[in-house]
Amino acid sequence: MDIVVASNNKHKIEEYRSIFKEFGINVLSLKDENISIDFEETGTTFESNSLLKAKECAKYTSKAILADDSGLIVDSLPDILGVYTARTFGEDTPYPIKRQKLIDLLEGKDRTAKFVCCITILNLTSEPLVFLGESRGSISLKSSGDHGFGYDPVFIPVGYNQTFADLSEEEKNKISHRGLASEKMIRYLKEHF
Ligand code: IMP
Repeated sequence: MDIVVASNNKHKIEEYRSIFKEFGINVLSLKDENISIDFEETGTTFESNSLLKAKECAKYTSKAILADDSGLIVDSLPDILGVYTARTFGEDTPYPIKRQKLIDLLEGKDRTAKFVCCITILNLTSEPLVFLGESRGSISLKSSGDHGFGYDPVFIPVGYNQTFADLSEEEKNKISHRGLASEKMIRYLKEHF
């Protein structure tokens, strides 16, 4: 089965490729399909943004589409990050700077956090399919690790003393928000197709 991942984020596409490999799901990027979209995330929830991205992509292909919207929620910083994670601290600011800004903001504050991912599938069933995944953890005192992307080097999942970026791609995918939402999606596909 082919699925087009409606994202311009190479790291996300690679994660989906690795997660779906063993299930015979072939991940196609927008580039593979010669589709060019500059996604606008105008929604106020992960669900609405992921549906927006999927619908935008559906204008260009009738193949199955997977769109995701994800972000980092830090409990003591309710006014930033969340659905606005990609834009917080400036969309074009390099991630080492964004991570340091987050660490600095959290000095003396509660560091509890979670990553959230909402997957929307279009063109497979008459209604969109929606799957949510959450990974709980905390923000580290300093960056560590060079795997993954974005805020991975400052996110320590519950039960670990390493960051997502210290873990291998396979280890991260087993416990990450994206991995857990994908697991629900795969369970659904196995039951219904
Ligand atoms: P979006 O889902 O493309 O809107 O991206 C949301 C933002 O959340 C990304 O640009 C990253 O900053 C952050 N993010 C989402 N998932 C991850 C992850 O798995 N690791 C690290 N950062 C992530």
